[in-house]
Amino acid sequence: MSDIIKILPSDVSNKIAAGEVVQRPSSVLKELIENSIDANSTRIQIIIKDAGKNLIQVIDNGKGMSKNDMHLSFIKHATSKINKIEDIFSISSMGFRGEALAAIASVSMLEMESINDYQNGHFIEINGGDLLREKDSNIQEGTSIKIKNIFYNVPARRNFLKSDFVELRHILDVFHRLAISHPEIEFSFINNEEEIFYLKQESLNKRIISIFGEKIRENLIPINESTQIANISGFVLKPEFSKKSRSNQFIFVNNRFIKSQFINHSISASYDGLLKDGYYPGYFLFIAIDPTKIDVNVHPNKTEIKFDDDQNLYSIINSSVKHCLGIYQVGPVLDFDKDPSMDISYDQVKSQPTSPSIEINSDFNPFKVFNEKEVNKVIDDDLADNIFNLESGNNHALKIFQILNKFIVSTNKSSLIIINQNLAHQRILYESFLKSIFENSANSQKLVFPIELSLTKKQLLLYNKIIDEFKSIGFDIIVRNELMLIESIPFGIEKNNVEEVIENILNEDFNTSNDFSTSDFFAKRLSKITSIKSGQKLNSEEQEYIVNHLFSCKEPNLSPDNKQIFITLNKNDIENKFNG
Ligand code: ADP
Ligand code: MG
Repeated sequence: MSDIIKILPSDVSNKIAAGEVVQRPSSVLKELIENSIDANSTRIQIIIKDAGKNLIQVIDNGKGMSKNDMHLSFIKHATSKINKIEDIFSISSMGFRGEALAAIASVSMLEMESINDYQNGHFIEINGGDLLREKDSNIQEGTSIKIKNIFYNVPARRNFLKSDFVELRHILDVFHRLAISHPEIEFSFINNEEEIFYLKQESLNKRIISIFGEKIRENLIPINESTQIANISGFVLKPEFSKKSRSNQFIFVNNRFIKSQFINHSISASYDGLLKDGYYPGYFLFIAIDPTKIDVNVHPNKTEIKFDDDQNLYSIINSSVKHCLGIYQVGPVLDFDKDPSMDISYDQVKSQPTSPSIEINSDFNPFKVFNEKEVNKVIDDDLADNIFNLESGNNHALKIFQILNKFIVSTNKSSLIIINQNLAHQRILYESFLKSIFENSANSQKLVFPIELSLTKKQLLLYNKIIDEFKSIGFDIIVRNELMLIESIPFGIEKNNVEEVIENILNEDFNTSNDFSTSDFFAKRLSKITSIKSGQKLNSEEQEYIVNHLFSCKEPNLSPDNKQIFITLNKNDIENKFNG
């Protein structure tokens, strides 16, 4: 029998590897910026078109490459950053696997120009990993890399890309993480021909303010703790500045952004008693630790790492955060860097933390429209084989009641139905929001006093991507500078909820893999935020509303996140309980 095993040609293996390194435009951007940082750049310019789908360009003033190195940089495992295996245990550069450019080049059209101290500038163009042409370049300093048409030769992946809204959110997250961990680098960020960030070299707290807006300034509490195991520095945010999402949580280990459940937990535990239920603290925490005591290689994208001594680290972080929260509560925060014109009054600094100002209106009644005729639609008119004795004084044959302030119990002719009120309401709202979006048929109410919200640049950009969705469900919004003026809101959303609704949509954390489209994402988020929650007592009218409207939905069985909305118990189920 002939041999059948063969080594894959490098273009095929690169494309496969590309799946690991290059998932979406934001992962390309991350690799390119990290390379520029590793090349000791002090100025990095980023140019994006169409959420990175058509162009991602990074221009730096770093040490550049020779002609030969430019060629080598596209070969897998070509790296200037490690020589021997021991190096990877003490790595301080951002990249070291030598895979990124090879992978990116294999799935895009790429142009690179570079110059170093020893040679003239050079230009090369690569399509799908193959060198197309090269020539001299008059580039003056550093390196410029353009990635055009990402995944043009892997249609399955290109089609897999999400809406511009989602892709841009990923891109901005990557940009924020790198810009926060490198305030000593000047960044400019141009999106569809408009410069949306210009960040000069600055201190860490100024960088955070440049990105998140003036509002965050007075909420930054510095943290600084040196121990044998690790040094902790950065800022935590006052409890008043906590959010309903985790969007203000940043952890960096040796200046590299990471995700870590146990560190999140250890910080949150320090805020114990200071936060309202469902609110998350914000922080920009930098942990400096001996690189031989961590393993950064556990995850291909290097956002998860393993610590040798995580238990001690947990306690160190927990007590450092407690310590600095304690100091802030007894005395004013000293910020020598602060612009004196922005001083807040001493009284304000001294005051005890108060609860976050976003309140949920517990009187919110989403059941304004109630149609008795519709309720009766759910009642099966054939009561002949009804297993229930529905004898009652009124002519609604339907018996509905609530248990545990969480479930609504109802019947149809042959079963008992137990409905999760929260999930059911999510489904009802989700379908109605989707309908409004697609039919552009929403009703809205004009506000006598428009609601004013100040937005961060990221929120503003994301908002621009979903203006149409906001309009179609009944929001009337004007944006001026970084201020949002909300003049009308959809029926069904309470005025007091508006700020939370908008913040939540524009700050939404990742995990969008189940969203089909921006509209779908929007309708899902909105239905989650505005739905009645478990624990809410409902009157009989409200209970009937849920039952009636749930069963008029297209998909009454599953919540927008595919959770089961109700269970049924039929005669046999009940009999079996007794016959055990
Ligand atoms: P890695 O960063 O893991 O070494 P990459 O594929 O990202 O692998 O890059 C390969 C090599 O190309 C780097 O080691 C570096 O020598 C060179 N390189 C890439 N980008 C730049 C840049 N912007 N400036 C200078 N050199 C670069
Ligand atoms: Mg790299």
